[in-house]
Amino acid sequence: MANKWDERKKAQEDEYFVKKEKEQLAKLKAKQEAEAKEGAKKAAYMRCPKCGESLKARSFQKIEVDQCTGCGGIWLDAGELEQVAGKEEGSWLGKFFQKNG
Ligand SMILES: [Zn+2]
Repeated sequence: MANKWDERKKAQEDEYFVKKEKEQLAKLKAKQEAEAKEGAKKAAYMRCPKCGESLKARSFQKIEVDQCTGCGGIWLDAGELEQVAGKEEGSWLGKFFQKNG
């Protein structure tokens, strides 16, 4: 009797843990898939439009810019050129931006 009860209890516990484990695995898998998707998306975008090499984020005057590891070209996100030009007021870049802005 006692053994049967224990077995049943054990089976329920096993079922519970298997279920928990499955839930955790599913969560982990979903997280990994989301991360892989995000990574692939990022990798596809983080390419130099000129030579196709990967871009590396670097800091230029405290502004984060993307520099190509192949040709060395620097790519700015929207608003970043304004930030650079703002810091460079009086310089050719600041003047250029004011003229064209
Ligand atoms: Zn390049």
